[in-house]
Amino acid sequence: LVHAVNVTKAFHGNEVLKGIDMDVARGEVVVLLGPSGSGKTTFLRCINQLETIDGGRIWVDGDLMGYEDRGGVLHHLTDKQIAGQRREIGMCFQRFNLFPHKTVLENIIEAPTQVKGVSKAEATARALELLEQVGLSDKPAAYPSQLSGGQQQRVAIARALAMDPKLMLFDEPTSALDPELVGEVLKVMRDLAEGGMTMIVVTHEMGFAREVADRVVFMDAGVVVEQGPPSEVIGNPQHARTRAFLSRMR
Ligand code: ATP
Repeated sequence: LVHAVNVTKAFHGNEVLKGIDMDVARGEVVVLLGPSGSGKTTFLRCINQLETIDGGRIWVDGDLMGYEDRGGVLHHLTDKQIAGQRREIGMCFQRFNLFPHKTVLENIIEAPTQVKGVSKAEATARALELLEQVGLSDKPAAYPSQLSGGQQQRVAIARALAMDPKLMLFDEPTSALDPELVGEVLKVMRDLAEGGMTMIVVTHEMGFAREVADRVVFMDAGVVVEQGPPSEVIGNPQHARTRAFLSRMR
């Protein structure tokens, strides 16, 4: 579903991604691990075109992200076309960014009704299903400020799912949460994975990586150092840099 080839990205001459290759199959759950500053967030942002890449190519479900290939020459897509590509990809961040003045239900139906033109009745019915899925069927009328961080993050996941994404990107979705709230969010993500969603997850939750990931990719300083099933990368890392990182995590 995702095919990234030799992706490079620099900020002011600082090369943050130094040629990332990554393939993610439909239904696969990939956990990205790596030290702070290794480029994980930047790579996720490149996939959905929140950042423009300097080199390489990224395809999502056969679509070349951000560009059109006209006989081997790449032309930038318009903002509108990029927005269309981005619509197919759900993203959850460390900060949930719910609309504070809207209820949970209004937050979830906003994009489907405004962007996709789904009727309010249909979007509401789907939102209530999603709230059930994330364990918040009693909260459609609540405002974000009335919810815990874990509940807000689950609403943010439901909001992303309301657009029926092909792919979900998670960027440290639990790292802003109090420890006792982490489990409820990871459970929702685990259920989503079991339901067959294709997911790329940046997280430091090693239990989640071990139990849910099909593949773990370890990044350091803008390159993929090693990757494989969690039992190998976490259980028996081959590279010194991976071992050093993991020993700090334990
Ligand atoms: P973390 O776990 O801390 O989020 P990360 O692996 O996700 O780390 P990135 O956030 O991708 O790493 O950042 C990689 C490097 O790129 C860092 O040195 C960061 O300062 C730099 N960087 C990221 N975004 C920008 C930007 N918009 N402008 C300038 N530098 C940036």
